Amino acid sequence: MTTTNAARPKVDKEALRRKYAEERAKRLRPDGNDQYVRIAGQFGHYLDDPYTPVTPRAPKTDHVTFAFIGGGFAGLLVGARLKEAGIKDVRIIEKGGDFGGTWYWNRYPGAQCDTASMIYLPLLEETGHRPTEKYAHAPEILAQCQRIAKKYDLYEHALLHTEVRTLTWDDAAKVWRIETNRGDAFTAQYLGLGTGPLHVPKLPGIPGLDSFAGHAFHTSRWDYAYTGGDPLGAPMTKLADKRVGIIGTGATSIQCVPHLARTAGRLYVFQRTPSSVDARNNAPIDPDWFASIATPGWQERWLMNFTENQAAGFPTEDLVQDGWTEISRRIRAKIVDLPPDQRTPENMLKAWEDADYEKMEEIRARAETIVKDKDTADKLKAWYRQLCKRPCFHDAYLQAFNNPNVTLVDTDGKGVERITPEGVVVAGKTYELDCLIFASGFEVGTEYTRRTGFDPVGRDGRTLSQHWAEGMRSLHGIHVHGFPNAFFVQPTQGANLISNVPHNLYDSAKTIAAIVSAAQAKGARTVEVTAEAEQSWVKLLLSGPGLMIGSQECTPGYYNNEGKDPGPVARSYVGYPYGAVAYFHYIDGWRRSGKFEGLAFE
Ligand code: NDP
Repeated sequence: MTTTNAARPKVDKEALRRKYAEERAKRLRPDGNDQYVRIAGQFGHYLDDPYTPVTPRAPKTDHVTFAFIGGGFAGLLVGARLKEAGIKDVRIIEKGGDFGGTWYWNRYPGAQCDTASMIYLPLLEETGHRPTEKYAHAPEILAQCQRIAKKYDLYEHALLHTEVRTLTWDDAAKVWRIETNRGDAFTAQYLGLGTGPLHVPKLPGIPGLDSFAGHAFHTSRWDYAYTGGDPLGAPMTKLADKRVGIIGTGATSIQCVPHLARTAGRLYVFQRTPSSVDARNNAPIDPDWFASIATPGWQERWLMNFTENQAAGFPTEDLVQDGWTEISRRIRAKIVDLPPDQRTPENMLKAWEDADYEKMEEIRARAETIVKDKDTADKLKAWYRQLCKRPCFHDAYLQAFNNPNVTLVDTDGKGVERITPEGVVVAGKTYELDCLIFASGFEVGTEYTRRTGFDPVGRDGRTLSQHWAEGMRSLHGIHVHGFPNAFFVQPTQGANLISNVPHNLYDSAKTIAAIVSAAQAKGARTVEVTAEAEQSWVKLLLSGPGLMIGSQECTPGYYNNEGKDPGPVARSYVGYPYGAVAYFHYIDGWRRSGKFEGLAFE
């Protein structure tokens, strides 16, 4: 981390550019997002909840002040802030059997947060929880979700194992009408949507997908009854005599492969594109140290400090010190090397590119140092810019390929050829398997309705899909014209801080609680963004640089619409043009002014 620019090895940028383009070309395919299979019908069982039995209950036909769709971090944060603001009847509707959202579903062995616990786990200060590790494991994160729900009495009105079917604004009664798959038909004055992008698993559209005769599951529905072990990391002893295959080498696979390697009789890792895997350096959090820093307001200070380090100018202190802030530190070091009159936007982008080439060379060298077999090490090298795909950090993934029971089956960018009753075919060779695990990710680039199962109907019967047909339109990513009393809780068109998504949600929760409190104080029945305010916000967003690394440069993946030109619709999925830190300062002022400019209270 302390390497100076002068001490870094020189890289052949032209050769790397060519190599990146070649590797990208191998992976581009005309079907883009359509290569994936939607989990429904014959594949429906891949969605079954293996963790909590569904308990019968009577349908709800009452009225609540605030209904929130999604019991993940967004719902928990908004629920907590509304409770603090004195709203008693907050109803969270969640398809899982408990709170947690993505952390309810993802219990695969080794699951762990990728952003430091101190800033990733919500409401640590409010709940008094000290994270046990720099990067907490999934059971601790799920427990924190449950702790928040208990502390703020969010279980009281919650509807778990419940999926919303319809959401309709009733303009005469000034309420939202909500219907669910459990027969509920109730109303709410306000509606929040925190449905997240990573909760609908997808399967790769590989020929013969449904023909496998062994046992198969998706990583977000880990079948511990079959594998043995548990989410805390107990060994999966039932795999000792099994031939296990895992398809996918993204952030999920990186975390569970070391556990499978430890216990499976044989493990085949089917790879289309390698992830970049840098050092993790996890460590326990020392209670004395924690007590010394946990002074009032500490978590907000840490959140802002991380964001300043990761996404802004030249902060003097880096509290979190992780792989994310290192990326920015390196870019800053390059910029500092430039004479002040040459610090132009183009030169800054070049500085970023140079820092990126150097970092990726180091990550590729890391694979070579750790993996003993040279051919395997070469195949594990990632040939693209670090932020083209989710950067991964792990201290046992690459090492797992040194185990004699583990085989990397690289498909040279082509993907698995076929699935048969016996196993998986790559380059004409069948790998016979007892168990096949899909680490194939989640629906991200597909239509909103495919991911939620509903399409909110706003004023005059206009649906959200209609309103967003030409691209997303909102004020701050939260308010949408024609959808009164509704709040969207997600990063896009706001700070759009991807390195720590909870910071976006944390801030939106404050905003929503402030607006609802103001509406109650004014005796307003509705609050809605004006058409003009929505329009000028979108205009401001589109005046920015857009996506910094785009579809034309990066290897395909869900970050860049599988390498296809995103078109005007996807171009609206951007953040505040001056960056996340500027956004948080701007919105703080907007909130504090008490004017809520752009919103109409009636
Ligand atoms: P990803 O979408 O990142 O990975 C899917 C994998 O499946 C890719 O390696 C993909 O290859 C591979 N694949 C797809 N089709 C085929 C095929 N036909 N043959 C072979 N391989 C195929 O999903 P993940 O679940 O790994 O991660 C999703 C996101 O969830 C992450 O990016 C991250 O944002 C989040 N996450 C966060 C974690 C954390 O914070 N701790 C942990 C885990 C996930 P290819 O790359 O070529 O498309």
